[in-house]
Amino acid sequence: MTGGAVAIAEPATVDAPAGARAADPSYAVLVVSPMRGALDELCGFVAETLAGESVFPCRGAAEAVAKAQTAARGRQSIAVFVFDFRGKPVGDLASHLRQAHKAFPHAELVVIADPCDPNAFAACARVTTAPETLTFLLAPLHPDEARRALRRVAERYRTMNESLRAAATRERAIMRLETEARELRARLDIAMHAARHDGLTGILNRAGFVDELAARLGRRRQMQTVLLIDLDRFKSVNDTLGHDAGDDLVRKICAAMSAIVSPGDVLARLGGDEFGIILEGATTAGVAEFCSLILRVCAQSRRVFGHEVQVSASIGVAYGDENASQVELMRHADLALYAAKKEGRNRYRVYDTAIDKAAKHRLSIESGLERALNTNQLAMAYQPIVKADTGEVMAFEALIRWNSPEYGVISPVDFVPVAEETGLILELGDWITRQALKDCRRWNGPYVSVNLSARQFLRHNVADRILQYAEDADLPPQRIQIELTETAIIDDVERADQNLKILRAAGVRVALDDFGTGYSSLVYLNQFAIDCIKIDKSFVDNITRDRQSAVIVASVAKLAASLGMSVVAEGVETADQQQALIAAGCGALQGYHFGKPMSAQDVAVFMAKTIGDRMLAAAS
Ligand code: C2E
Ligand code: CA
Ligand code: CA
Repeated sequence: MTGGAVAIAEPATVDAPAGARAADPSYAVLVVSPMRGALDELCGFVAETLAGESVFPCRGAAEAVAKAQTAARGRQSIAVFVFDFRGKPVGDLASHLRQAHKAFPHAELVVIADPCDPNAFAACARVTTAPETLTFLLAPLHPDEARRALRRVAERYRTMNESLRAAATRERAIMRLETEARELRARLDIAMHAARHDGLTGILNRAGFVDELAARLGRRRQMQTVLLIDLDRFKSVNDTLGHDAGDDLVRKICAAMSAIVSPGDVLARLGGDEFGIILEGATTAGVAEFCSLILRVCAQSRRVFGHEVQVSASIGVAYGDENASQVELMRHADLALYAAKKEGRNRYRVYDTAIDKAAKHRLSIESGLERALNTNQLAMAYQPIVKADTGEVMAFEALIRWNSPEYGVISPVDFVPVAEETGLILELGDWITRQALKDCRRWNGPYVSVNLSARQFLRHNVADRILQYAEDADLPPQRIQIELTETAIIDDVERADQNLKILRAAGVRVALDDFGTGYSSLVYLNQFAIDCIKIDKSFVDNITRDRQSAVIVASVAKLAASLGMSVVAEGVETADQQQALIAAGCGALQGYHFGKPMSAQDVAVFMAKTIGDRMLAAAS
């Protein structure tokens, strides 16, 4: 090649090159020269050198940029601009070069220059910020050298382009991952929220509450006070009005409590009808006031599914000093709640050491009682129930006794409720019933009156069991009376009614124990199959002292008689009480005045003695 001439080939003038494949398009090479002849020749040379690429002849940078943009829209990469401006002003070259570089900053720039024109070099170098993409081919061109240089430039572009593309792919992958991570986080947030919140009310649930308490204690900033709130007798709302009504009531009470809990404090629903509150930095007086407010709010009467419903609440309170753990604090509040319930509900109790002692005692009773059942530490005692006027023994009430080698004599008042809670009452109750029926079989005449706790009585097959035990003991059901409290009946009205009907049909008598201490009226209770009511000792205690008690007992006895029920007065300790009770219309009496609870063996002696006494009295 001489005089800057190159071998002439057909110029490639394709705008959208036919050879370009969609998946792997060829590169675009733009040859720019204002000199027609040189342009054609150079295009031919480039096309032959870079076979397979698309070569575009252009008279200037503007045309080159336009063609390159069209090619780029056809998804071609703009690889190389080749400029041949030999003999033209340096300024022209630089301005064309600048246009191309500005439009396609990644493209390689090749300038064919005269070796004796240093100005051209300097002007070109100033145009590009990436001098490594600027290549000079010195005229006259040596074809081999020029080919090698062009191929090197094309190759360099290919490498650069691939790495750019890889970087772009990477970038896209990273963006996709980031989007996915964001979505995942959002989903996780939703799941976390659901895991920590209550579906019904939207406030924190137990898990959320416990987390929050732990976090607050961990910060050790201020005193944290935990309140556990339990609605009293909520179950009966569920039972009588249905679960939807129960849910509605829970939502309404929750909303009312939310309104009085400060924004910095925490309210959570821990379970069915149980709520938790964390107060921060509250004083003792402040807590007392807050508890009273909560009690008032809970006790408000509310309209639920067309019914006026009123419940009360019990609250257990525990203060957490800086050393308290969340587990301990929850346990203390729970024990205090238990104490509040036990003391009569609709109140709050603050945890103290007495509560802790009681809990430990309960625990020891719990474990001791199970042992007692299996090691003959339990025995039955029987207390006579007599005719009010003649003193004739009608029946014996069966009362359980526990003689513990560790704790001495333990009152049933202490251990029966524990057995109720733990469920041991079922086993214990079976033992009591069998024993009492067996003992009664040996007496001539008097029937036996057996106490059944609520849990025991609401067992589904309790009637069948009792009748089975009667058969086992060979005792006619007519000689059995069961004593139930009001709660045993109204806790599950339907089941109680069913059990009562079976027992009554078989001839078993039913007595309502502790009458006057509950809330239900006798007229309401009359719908259940009840034979007899036992008037609580608290009325008997006062009957000789205050007129009101006498009036109450008299009116209860009268009403009971009109409903076809008999009346037994409990806890009669004096002859005066006996006289007052007879005057009030009580047909039967029970109490120390007639006989204390005694062992089964002593019953026979007692019977013989009373019969003897009565015969003597009759003879005199
Ligand atoms: P309750 O059913 O009201 O039994 C009457 C309680 O009053 C008995 O106490 C009895 O000894 C006592 N008592 C009777 N007359 C007098 C009196 O004149 N003066 C005084 N101060 N007390 C009198 P006890 O045996 O300690 O039983 C207490 C409670 O424990 C019972 O009250 C009953 O609720 C429960 N209980 C006792 N035995 C059983 C049982 O076998 N099963 C169940 N489920 N509960 C039982
Ligand atoms: Ca009783
Ligand atoms: Ca009683």
